[in-house]
Amino acid sequence: MSTQGGTPLLAARDLYKSYGRNEALRGASVELGEGEILALTGASGSGKSTLLHCLAGIVQPDDGAVVYDRRRVDRMTEDQRSELRRTEFGVVFQFAQLIPELTVLDNVSLPLLLAGTDRESARATASEWLERFGALGQALARPGQLSGGQAQRAALARSLATGARIVFADEPTGALDSLAAEQTMTALVHAVRESGTAVVLVTHDAQVAAYADREVQLKDGKAVEAGLGALPAQERA
Ligand code: ADP
Ligand code: MG
Repeated sequence: MSTQGGTPLLAARDLYKSYGRNEALRGASVELGEGEILALTGASGSGKSTLLHCLAGIVQPDDGAVVYDRRRVDRMTEDQRSELRRTEFGVVFQFAQLIPELTVLDNVSLPLLLAGTDRESARATASEWLERFGALGQALARPGQLSGGQAQRAALARSLATGARIVFADEPTGALDSLAAEQTMTALVHAVRESGTAVVLVTHDAQVAAYADREVQLKDGKAVEAGLGALPAQERA
């Protein structure tokens, strides 16, 4: 078990989420331990992004509970969830979504400035994170001048710079070639091992999932521990 019997850092229990008649989640449960890298895998449309969005407080589940650090994320107001994403959670998507008008350094500094850090310390911290992700050389470039891999590494630096305890990454290497994907994952794993940050990593790529400590597969709106996937269904019950 990921959590050695202790309280998980984040847990989803029996989540349901429908879009109209489309039941994206049908009783999905998953746990994340402190500092753990968890891969959520599964076919396209299996509910990976929906689960990640519910875990990160971006989307409210219709039913079930999301518990982070003894707090019910699913019962928080929109403002409380936004606050959580500004401070304790970091989020990264398939395309880096850096602000094109700002330099890379200013992009990474921005969440720190929003959290009340003064400009000089924000830049110093942002530089350290860019360095950890091998992207300090692009600090003064605009996002449009970066390769896909450089942009994703900058986005990951931005998601971690505020001292997030969990980073939620939805197909962060989905638009990268395999070499850039490998560099990005290596940098991410190295950085979070050092900071003790936990990661929820959505991917449909087995090579990317291999970087995780544990893999959970989404199937029919439910989450199944990947190690158990090989067993016949009746032995899993
Ligand atoms: P995955 O990330 O595994 O590809 P998603 O969680 O994005 O899967 O989607 C699960 C199901 O929910 C799919 O059938 C998808 O079409 C549907 N879905 C997801 N988001 C929305 C939305 N905002 N509106 C309507 N349907 C959605
Ligand atoms: Mg998705």
